[in-house]
Amino acid sequence: LEALKATDLDVYEAIQAEEQRQREKLLLIASENFASPAVLAAQGCLMTNKYAEGYPGKRYYGGCQHVDAVETLAIERAKQIFGAEHVNVQPHSGSQANMAAYLAVLKPGDAILGMDLAQGGHLTHGSKVNFSGILFQAFSYGVDRDTEQIDYDVVQKRAEECRPKMIVVGASAYSRIIDFPRFQQIAKSVGAYLMVDIAHIAGLIAAGLHPNPVPYADFVTTTTHKTLRGPRAGMILCKAEHAKAIDKIVFPGLQGGPLMHVIAAKAVALKEALSPSFKAYQQQVIANAKALAEGLLARGYKVVSGGTDNHLMLVNLTNKGVTGKEAEAALDAAGIIVNKNAVPYDEKPPATASGIRLGTPTVSTRGMRESDMRQIVDFIDRVIQRPQDQALQQQIRAEAKSLCTKFPIFHQY
Ligand code: PLP
Repeated sequence: LEALKATDLDVYEAIQAEEQRQREKLLLIASENFASPAVLAAQGCLMTNKYAEGYPGKRYYGGCQHVDAVETLAIERAKQIFGAEHVNVQPHSGSQANMAAYLAVLKPGDAILGMDLAQGGHLTHGSKVNFSGILFQAFSYGVDRDTEQIDYDVVQKRAEECRPKMIVVGASAYSRIIDFPRFQQIAKSVGAYLMVDIAHIAGLIAAGLHPNPVPYADFVTTTTHKTLRGPRAGMILCKAEHAKAIDKIVFPGLQGGPLMHVIAAKAVALKEALSPSFKAYQQQVIANAKALAEGLLARGYKVVSGGTDNHLMLVNLTNKGVTGKEAEAALDAAGIIVNKNAVPYDEKPPATASGIRLGTPTVSTRGMRESDMRQIVDFIDRVIQRPQDQALQQQIRAEAKSLCTKFPIFHQY
């Protein structure tokens, strides 16, 4: 970073401070991770200089032989990992990947049925404030009030009522395995396309630790920066019959020049995802999430749906007398970074929320294990019991920092 330091000290200092924050705090945001040094190197490379509108072998610019090579590697690796017939690695983000999947086969005004944002879904699955709810007639399904899990019979009924052209599956805050064959049956029964957004669980699927929706869905979209541990971006996997429509809507439909440095970093992340150590990492992500959930349950916390099958969990804090917003702020002061989150059937507005969402991708990348999760449960519990106690927060902040300093931010499994 010496060149940056010489050119722009302000940005250099902000980056240094961010690095220190990432090193010294316990990051439990379920959608974040630490990209490897190799991924960061590719993402910071001079492929950012190259225009490459089009696709490998069919570009609108000369000089594309080397960017063609990295894009082809990314595509082939993604096909191999997920068993996909066709892959487009150009979406700049998960939201753009979703927009492309919709617009490949839908027209504005068509009906879509997705998981309610307030019950674990994502903004792009039909929220009124998002393009998905602005462009399409959006209907939603949620989770059962008692089990706090998807009730597939209710989804079937909803689908029959609203007759969507596309059913959208996937979530930002759902901790249970999703039954993709069942969703395929439901979609087929009403003649809808099936799109599955695996942004959160892509790494678990790549490692074979969560069922893979690719055989069942028309479209599978993902981000590449969450459990998959690549650069911040998106990707689409689809059936061969949709290949042309997807490629055409990504470019020229929605984007211009692809970010070739980011695509290079996707190729690297996908190579890492093919290694045996990646599977060991994902196993630890799940083991750590279970340890975190069990530790919280043992101390009287209400973990939504009673536990987790993946990398995250929602904790309903209503019985602890603390809102999600208060918990987020108190934990932040104690060096533990989480996000407030609505819980199913939350009576509080989203800006306050009754819960927090916790995830283990980042702490697992550092090499932390179950015993460390028990320590984190202890930190969280002490803070939540006395959310106004600033002296306690300072003390835990020092303890959290001391735990963090035992682990590099990128541990080699
Ligand atoms: N889909 C899901 C399920 C997500 O959780 C997210 C991001 O949190 C996205 C899509 C959007 O990704 P991006 O932030 O890259 O637009």
